[in-house]
Order: sequence, then C-alpha cells, then structure tokens
Amino acid sequence: MPLIVQKFGGSSVADSQKILAAARKAIRAQQEGNQVVMVVSAMGDTTDDLLELASQVNERPPAREMDMLLSTGEQVSVALMAMAVHSLGSKAISLTGGQIGIRTDSTHTKARIRSVSTDRMKKLLESGNIVIAAGFQGIDEDWNITTLGRGGSDTTAVALAAVLQADSCEIYTDVDGVYTTDPRVMPEARRMSRISYDEMLELASLGAGVMHNRAVEFGKKFNVPIHVRSSFTDVLGTMIVNEPEAPNVPVCGCAITKSEARITLVGVPDRPGSSLDIFSRLGKRAITVDMVVQNIGEDGKADISFTVPQDELRASLEAVQEAAHELGIERITHDDQVAKISVVGLGMAKQTGVADRMFRALAGAGVNIQMITTSEIKISVLVRRNEAQSALRAVHAAFELEREPAGAAKREQIVASSRPTAQNVVDVVQRLAGMDMEELFIDDISLDQSQARVTIRGVPDVPGIAAKVFEEVAAAKIFVDMIVQSYDGQEGQATLSFTVPKGKLSDAMTVAKKLASDFQCAGVSSSPDIAKLSVSGIGLRSHTGVAMRMFRSLSEAGINIGMINTSEVRVNVVVDGTHGEKGLASLQKAFADVLR
Ligand code: ASP
Ligand code: MG
Repeated sequence: MPLIVQKFGGSSVADSQKILAAARKAIRAQQEGNQVVMVVSAMGDTTDDLLELASQVNERPPAREMDMLLSTGEQVSVALMAMAVHSLGSKAISLTGGQIGIRTDSTHTKARIRSVSTDRMKKLLESGNIVIAAGFQGIDEDWNITTLGRGGSDTTAVALAAVLQADSCEIYTDVDGVYTTDPRVMPEARRMSRISYDEMLELASLGAGVMHNRAVEFGKKFNVPIHVRSSFTDVLGTMIVNEPEAPNVPVCGCAITKSEARITLVGVPDRPGSSLDIFSRLGKRAITVDMVVQNIGEDGKADISFTVPQDELRASLEAVQEAAHELGIERITHDDQVAKISVVGLGMAKQTGVADRMFRALAGAGVNIQMITTSEIKISVLVRRNEAQSALRAVHAAFELEREPAGAAKREQIVASSRPTAQNVVDVVQRLAGMDMEELFIDDISLDQSQARVTIRGVPDVPGIAAKVFEEVAAAKIFVDMIVQSYDGQEGQATLSFTVPKGKLSDAMTVAKKLASDFQCAGVSSSPDIAKLSVSGIGLRSHTGVAMRMFRSLSEAGINIGMINTSEVRVNVVVDGTHGEKGLASLQKAFADVLR
C-alpha cells in the first residue's frame, strides 16, 4: 500500500479549526488508499512563547531543560490532532519522538538524527491507524529529550519518509510552494512546479525560508520526493526532487541576503596556514563566514575578504584582530552597509553566458559590484545595501524568472512521476544500514588540472566592467568556471580572477588585455598551471568545518591556497599546479573517515 508522510507546520495547526482541517486532509489521503503518517509542529507561536518564558526565569537556561520545555509544544499538537482524527471517525495514535524511537546525538537544541526505528509505526499503520508523530524531537542514548533546531519538524518529516520508504513527503505550510524569489519582496516572483535538491539547498541557505536545510539534505541523501504545498487549499505546490524544473534553464531563482557585512584583511602573508589561522579563529566563535575571496598574492602578500552576518561583525573583528597580530597583517577594513544578491541554477554548470547576463543586468540598473564569488550552480555578488532591492529586481527580470520555462512539465505529471523507483529504495536501504542518518557524507574528492587562471588587477570600481569582461569572454565561446572579484585594500579598485580551459587561455588573455587597456586597469596576469581540488558531498553546510579541514590538511602539506569557493554540496580550492597530486593525497587522507 502506498505510504505518505504529511507534515503540518505551526501556522497550519494554529487553532482547533486548523487542526480539524489538517485531520481531514490526512483522513482523505487514507481513504484514497494510502497509509498516512502525520508530522506536526507546535501550534502557532508556541515555541517562541516557550522560549520567552524560559528567558524570564533564566537568562541562559540549561540546554537540556530547554529541550524538555520546547518538546512540549509538539506534544500538545499531536495529542489534539489524534483527538481530531477520532472525532472525525478514523483511528489515530499520537507518538512523541522517544516513543517512535528517533535516536539523536546529545547536542541539545540542535541535535542530529542518528536512526529511526520503524517497528512501532509500521504495526500501527498496518492496523489502520493514522500515525501522528511529534516533529522536531528525539531522544539521545540516555533517554534525554532532544530537539533538532528551529524549524526542525521538516527534518523529522523527511527522515520518517526516508526510513519508511514513503512514496511522498508532503510539507503543508502557509505558502503554496517554492518561488523564484521571495514573493513578499517581489510580487512578480513565480511559483515553480519543480526544483532540484541542490538548487533548493542553495536557496534555503540564502534565506529562502520555505524549508529547513537539513530536511532538504535528507531528501537528497535518501531520495525522498518532497512536495511543498499550501495547507489551506488543495492546489499542487512545488516538488523538490533530483531534476530541475526544466532542462537547460541557467537560473531557477534568485535571493537577497540583506544583513551582511564585509571584512577585508590587507597584506596577509601569502603562505600556507594563513587562511587556516584566520578562519579557525572565526570558527571557534561559531561565526558563519560566507563569500570568501582571496586575491592572488603579490610580493608575498594577499588580500582576503569575506562576509559575515551583520550582527556578528563585532565578534568577527575581534577574531581577525587577533589573527592580524599573530600573522602580521597590514590593515583591516570593513563595511556593514552591504547585501548579497545570488542567482542559483543547475543549468549554469554547463553553459556560457550566464555570469555576464547577471552582471549586465546589474550594470543596467547602475549597481556597482563590490565582490563576486561563484560555485558550480550559484553566482553571488556583494552590493551596497541601499541598491540591493533594485539589483534583485533587475536580475529576476534579466533571467525572465517570472515566465514558466520552456519544457516544464505539468504539475500533475510531475507529482505523479516523482515516486521513488524500486532501485532507489534498494539504494536507500543500503545507505541507511551503513551510517548515522545525518552524518557528514563525502562522496567525491577530485583534482582538476584542465584549467588556467586569468587575473585582471586594478579594475576601476564602477558599474559595467565585469559585465563587459564576461560578455567578451562568452562571445569568444570560452566557458568560465570560477570567478572571484575581490575588494582591494586600495579603495575604488578590484581584482578580478577567473578560470578557463587551458586550451582557451591565450584567447582569454587576448580579451582580458584588450579590456584592461580600454578600462585603464593596472595589469593582466595569468597562470597556465593551476590545480583545482574539490570535496563534494551532502551536509557540507550543516557540518561546518569541512572547509577548515581542507585548509588544515593543505596547510600541513605545505600547500598555499589561491582561490576558494564553496557551495552547499562542494568546496573548491585552487592551488599551484605543481601541488595538485600532493594536495589530492592530503585531502584523501583528511577525509578518509567520511568518504564513501
Ligand atoms: N516548533 C519548532 C519551531 O518552531 C519546530 C518547527 O516548527 O518545525 O521551530
Ligand atoms: Mg514552528
């Protein structure tokens, strides 16, 4: 019999009428011939209210007791939901995380799921019950109640769907799907019919609040089709699966991250271990660093820029001041009036002419680009915060995101064709047997020696230059892989580096030299011999420290890092070409315990 998991978020169970409406949805699904597991969040703002209460009795409540408290929110919901199902004439049983057997580690308030027992749920389902599971909670080895972090009921839902090999996991919420950008910010945003796990992971980490990041990681790791849809209507929403909405679409969505701050370290000694020193100090303070950009060093010195959340600027500055002291860094500058604009799309990994389209749109809107970083499926730029809104609008329009892409299938068809295949199920069972469910999962460590680097120095900091450079490069049919533009120590200047296939280096240099002279840049240099080292897997974001492990391992091997880029599923670093093999070996050793 098909099995579906239906998750109802806090706003979908905010009062008794809504609880009854959710119960009706589950009963209907059961009457249509499915076994049904409901996963339920705490009612409305309950979790916030409980947090507030806790803070009234203790400024820093013990984490264990916090979990004891917060888990009660979900316990209220599941009991009421079971009563509601009974009142409508069907059978239901509510279960806490502990009663199901959701085992987690002991990291209170942000525990990770290790395993889930299916015995009890299966028995109850077979005897005709709707199983009503409390979201967001589990128990550790010693039976302490744990919670999974804010928004964690999504994660519970997808985890249950994974272990039960559910045919689908429906996430009922107060929005009716995933949009090309936040529709509250931009009314022209379009609701997608489908999005790939990788794209959703990127958008979720950029602040698209539709789904808990870890839930999407679960979906990807265990092949769970996730259907995000409205709890207040019956319309189909957005499927999160392996495939994108339509083949070859370069960009599926864009996002704005408003509260960023930039820090630049000028004159960092360009030697192995510098980045490690800096970023481990930030890591120790649990500061999430984003958009790391390192200039190619000159005279043994490099500049490193990165962004941090605006409210962590002060703590970050403390950390880098320590590093500056230790390493002998010349100067530290910062700016807390910046925002990040990103575009995401699986299709851009294989096409030319994506970056230039974004940069041209920004130039057209008169927006200056301060920094650029890219990954295989994401391009991010840093801009002035007061220009961010118009930047987002320009980018959304440039990629015609308001229009349904050609070749997109109908929603009914997408939903119907998203059930896992028999082979998927076999693979998942194998995966579940071999590991803790949320363990860091590295599936590839690789070395790419096919690329060369071009660097333009002293690029005047005015709108339109990046657009021009990448338009000309695209016109010459050169595929660009990595792009980084850093913010120079010298005000009003930037350094722009990008990588191209080795065979195209001289063509790319011709273009770069011509533009450098047209725009009075300081100079152009290149390296025909670079090596790109990549670590890819699932959980690179939620398991912080992957980049740190790479830095440490390369530093111990005496290898200097040139360029860096990171995404949810991959971290890439560029090193000197002569260090490729050695770097690969050191990374293989560093990740041996988690490589599958
Ligand atoms: N009730 C928890 C929270 O508000 C979990 C959830 O809603 O997913 O964060
Ligand atoms: Mg909630």
